Amino acid sequence: MNRAAGDARPGKAEKVWRFGLIGWPLGHSLSPTLHQTALQALALKGDYKLLPIPPERVDQELSTLTICLRDGNLDGLNVTIPYKQAVIPYLGALTEAARAVGAVNTIYREGGRLVGDNTDIGGFSGELAKMEAFFNDKPVRKALVLGAGGAARAVVYVLLKAGWDVTVAARRREQAAGLADIIPIHCTGSFSAALLDESIAAMSPDLIVNATPAGMWPRPDATPWPAGVSIPRDALVYDLIYNPPETCLMRASALARGGLGMLVEQAALSFEIWTGRAAPRSKMLLAAEQQLAGAMESIQ
Ligand code: NAP
Repeated sequence: MNRAAGDARPGKAEKVWRFGLIGWPLGHSLSPTLHQTALQALALKGDYKLLPIPPERVDQELSTLTICLRDGNLDGLNVTIPYKQAVIPYLGALTEAARAVGAVNTIYREGGRLVGDNTDIGGFSGELAKMEAFFNDKPVRKALVLGAGGAARAVVYVLLKAGWDVTVAARRREQAAGLADIIPIHCTGSFSAALLDESIAAMSPDLIVNATPAGMWPRPDATPWPAGVSIPRDALVYDLIYNPPETCLMRASALARGGLGMLVEQAALSFEIWTGRAAPRSKMLLAAEQQLAGAMESIQ
């Protein structure tokens, strides 16, 4: 890891941290706010830039940016949709977590090589721990995960590792079934795949996780939940979406939590990997909430 925290010795030039986010498109990302807040709170110099890469330039740009990181002209990169898998061939190694889910959202330099990590896993783990009190009287824990893309892979990995029985429901059953390749060794929970249709009403999950973009700005009225089917009253709904802070799915549920906490935690973990410093999570959360509230005001 980049454990070289800023050198404050007299006569030494102060370290200037250079981070960035690769993805496409990147219009409304909260990541610059989260990381700049962390840098500022710790009185570190640096910046976090959005690095949008149009698909037609992906090979050239990924190659250039990873060389910059290897040469020390950058200190860390985050990766988002649609490049979490595409970036893997440019890296020298993957952490166990990134290898297990087959996706990278954080890249750091270690010695002369680049390492790909996945802090979405730690981000969702942190949120699951906060929900523990809701589930602690349940001897068998059943989760229904909606969607089977990159974020669902991180969520399913965490749940299976924690011993949950997991059903993944997607619009294409074969996509849901494809997540079977991440079942951890020594996993005590079970895995099944289903079609995301009315049949999910017959399941009685303790936790429902929305890992689809349905309901996300700019289509806040959408929901992944099948029409005409009620959401189980006993289930806690965790929606990975954070913009808007309360989705249609959350409003229709008895008990729900949005994805901002996961976003902050994955950013905090990336920041800690890159700088070796403890991330100021509450300040980061507050800054993200303020940016989201500002965005909501400007569209109302
Ligand atoms: P992704 O790789 O594109 O996967 C999206 C999944 O959702 C696919 O299975 C897709 O199925 C399905 N889907 C898309 N639209 C749907 C709809 N209208 N109804 C039902 N299923 C639908 O995206 P991702 O990276 O997994 O991200 C998913 C969501 O999680 C996004 O909203 C993202 O912002 C959020 N996220 C949040 C955090 C956080 O920290 N809170 C972290 C990561 C991701 P098809 O292939 O059939 O379209």
